[in-house]
Amino acid sequence: MKGEIAYVVADLEGSTGAWTKAHTLLGTPEWQEARVELTRDINAVADVLFEKGVRGVVVKDFHRTGYNLIPKYLDRRVRLVSGYYAGPAIGYGKLYGADFALFVGLHAAGGNGSGFLSHTLTSRIAEIVVNGKRLGEAELFATVLSSFNVPVCFFSGCPAACQEVLEKMDWLVAYEIAKDPEIYKDERKRQEYIRRKRQGLIEKVKEVSHPEKRPLFFMKPPFDCQVIFNQETEARRMNPWGFPQEGRIVRFQTEEFLELYQNLLKIAYFPKLAYYLRSVVLPLTRFGWKIQSLKHL
Ligand SMILES: [Zn+2]
Repeated sequence: MKGEIAYVVADLEGSTGAWTKAHTLLGTPEWQEARVELTRDINAVADVLFEKGVRGVVVKDFHRTGYNLIPKYLDRRVRLVSGYYAGPAIGYGKLYGADFALFVGLHAAGGNGSGFLSHTLTSRIAEIVVNGKRLGEAELFATVLSSFNVPVCFFSGCPAACQEVLEKMDWLVAYEIAKDPEIYKDERKRQEYIRRKRQGLIEKVKEVSHPEKRPLFFMKPPFDCQVIFNQETEARRMNPWGFPQEGRIVRFQTEEFLELYQNLLKIAYFPKLAYYLRSVVLPLTRFGWKIQSLKHL
């Protein structure tokens, strides 16, 4: 790890401070608490990485609009990347020379009933099935990073999310952060739990392996993909793209991972015009999102 650049993907659902759906919704009082704790989680992770000798830590804020981490509370040594980018790495933008990646605070895939706030890309989608298997975000994000030669070696999130990701990438160092509503109700217990889990996160990051033990993960083409929406009306609204559709299921086939990912992003997030103008639209939204997140500080 000495002299390397670590790339941390930070999501909110699986972090120490997100206990209810409200914690994940921008602008709520619960979200304010959750983003403070998320920033502390990331500082803890960055600190141990620097202790292990990394040359730099890049953090990509990956929840919702990508403006959750609080820059003024963030470790000064960390390079923060907020908002979304069309490229070079789809969604991430520049990777700043990253040598390996850590997924911190992720959630389980849509359709995984045991997970905490499980979803894939958006909660409008009930489940995405690729080649007969449920798809989670970690597989998509890891494949994008792998295509830039950045292996993922760490994952934290709810127990179901950890279990799910270990089935696909059994070499990952994983750390479970369960959310017990009973603990949430008791402020003192909750604070104590958050402290304990953050300490555990630190200890677990210390176990991250040497470079030779970090395989790259790729989803294997060809892909037969079914996007199953919660409601047929949503499926119709999100599919101006003309992908074959039956009831609440939108289906497509492709030979290429990039096409799979782009199609999924189109179906999950983009009206047609915004997608084609995304290199213009994304910088504008980044500006808007930034203002919005500052307003809440
Ligand atoms: Zn999220």
